[in-house]
Amino acid sequence: MSGPSGSGKTSIIRKLLERLDILFSVSATTRPPRPGETQGVDYYFVTTEEFEEMITRDALLEWAIYSGNHYGTPSDPIETETAAGRDVLLDIEIKGARQVRALRPDALMIFVTPPSNEVLEQRLRSRGDTSSQDIASRLMIAESQLKEAPSLFDHIVVNEVLEHAVDEVANLIIDSR
Ligand code: 5GP
Repeated sequence: MSGPSGSGKTSIIRKLLERLDILFSVSATTRPPRPGETQGVDYYFVTTEEFEEMITRDALLEWAIYSGNHYGTPSDPIETETAAGRDVLLDIEIKGARQVRALRPDALMIFVTPPSNEVLEQRLRSRGDTSSQDIASRLMIAESQLKEAPSLFDHIVVNEVLEHAVDEVANLIIDSR
């Protein structure tokens, strides 16, 4: 699953994990933790050296630099779970999604969008944990992502009302099984 930061993707994912038997892929990142985030649950927070070591070991299914930080998906849980026939949910940005599309043609690719740019900006500002500079950078990324989304993703889900978006994504996952 991909979507601009502020699209509400994280809230959708939280609800999906309560509802469906699906494993969340915990990514590695060099971004510092935000208040309330837990090591090993939200992310594996690592140093740049540790991240580079993971790349060298070929331990990442995909990785990308987003807004100045490295983010990557550890391969092992994906291989193990999907080999056992279970679903894994990835929350990744678009460069990573492109890599997953190429590496795992069986992946169900969903893009979540906010109803408008104005709503996106409001959501980012109301989070209160992201600097103005970071908000501006994330808004620019969102704009370019929206242009590419239709050619890369199987489905685009507009997150206007959270519960409706959760229902829609849950149904897409169930239907694809
Ligand atoms: P945030 O810093 O807001 O948690 O995440 C920033 C962006 O990085 C989000 O779009 C999120 O989907 C993406 N992201 C998180 N984990 C990964 C990952 O493992 N790989 C890639 N390519 N992107 C990720």
